[in-house]
Amino acid sequence: NRPSKCTYKLNGDGLAPQASPHIHRDSYYRTGSIKPNILYCMNDSPLIRINRITKNDGVPCEILAKCEFFNPGGSVKDRIAVRMVEDAEERGLIQPGWVLIEPTSGNTGIGIAITCIVKGYRCVIVISEKMSKEKVDIMKALGAEIVQTPTSVSYDAPSSNYRMASKLANTIPKSHILNQFRNASNPIAHYDGTAEEILNACDGKLNMLVCSAGTGGTLSGIARKIKERLPDCLIVGVDPIGSILATPDEVNETSTAFYEIEGIGDDFLPTTLDRKIVDKWYKVGDKESFIMSRRLAREEGFLCGGSSGAAMYCAIKAAKEFNLTANMRVVVLLPDSIRNYMSKFLSDEWMIARAFLDTQTKSHDYTWFI
Ligand code: PMP
Repeated sequence: NRPSKCTYKLNGDGLAPQASPHIHRDSYYRTGSIKPNILYCMNDSPLIRINRITKNDGVPCEILAKCEFFNPGGSVKDRIAVRMVEDAEERGLIQPGWVLIEPTSGNTGIGIAITCIVKGYRCVIVISEKMSKEKVDIMKALGAEIVQTPTSVSYDAPSSNYRMASKLANTIPKSHILNQFRNASNPIAHYDGTAEEILNACDGKLNMLVCSAGTGGTLSGIARKIKERLPDCLIVGVDPIGSILATPDEVNETSTAFYEIEGIGDDFLPTTLDRKIVDKWYKVGDKESFIMSRRLAREEGFLCGGSSGAAMYCAIKAAKEFNLTANMRVVVLLPDSIRNYMSKFLSDEWMIARAFLDTQTKSHDYTWFI
């Protein structure tokens, strides 16, 4: 059974009393048990050693990948979906039968759609047209109703997905927006869950955490717990070129705000992001991110998404820049699955059309490790 530094108190269906915002569901940490439903599988992702990429790139330290693509919805956002819904239920804000509306880049929508099925809610997802068809089709398969908004509008434009979600909430009775960009249950899910899993698996030995940011919930929640337990551990944030989340602000200056990587970066600062907890931010482009995502498949057998490539690319860069030696350890978080991008960076044609790959280099030609 999983060792833990938390105290678990069973109360009826497994919920700890609401004395603090930190809830630990007992069965989340039981291994080899029968799961009451799919929501109990939204945790405990494996931490897997990177072998070939580190060797091929001449990085002496150990790099471990927290592989969130093992979650039932295929991403790290399953964790916050179930946590935000259960916290809202416990606060009496919603009850089964209500309509949950969420603006999302897709993965949170998938997690919420699964949660709605299990708990009996109607699910309305507001998503920008930039996001992959795969994510939209998955949410439809899960019975979610989809409202699409234009890609190139700022967050405060009337047609942005944030504004559209508020409009819908004002017109649909018994509806609620969980709002992952402002909801404290988002970082708390990672403070209580993801971070504990990493620290338990690492047994107190960790020199650097590398994590990308969209809402910043994953990064901020994990980093806060790590800084409490291991104050010397370096926290590295990953932000795409074109986004404004990184600090200092000057690093965000660029001529274009568009980037292809999905799920990370933004044009406003979510309250769920604690920028100060990050020791060093790295800006990252589309091309190097997608090439690294493809390398994760080809060299490690990991089928993960574009933001995973972005984080892995920055992990290698940071490990080199900070001169991490053989006895040191990095954890890099890989947020979602390649399933979301079958028609995008997995396709040679899509990569070539954007000059991310030259016409000579087809994916089956890669020979990095041979
Ligand atoms: N990668 C992907 C693919 C995502 O969908 C998200 C969530 N938007 C993130 C990374 C970033 O996670 P967070 O919102 O916790 O910062």
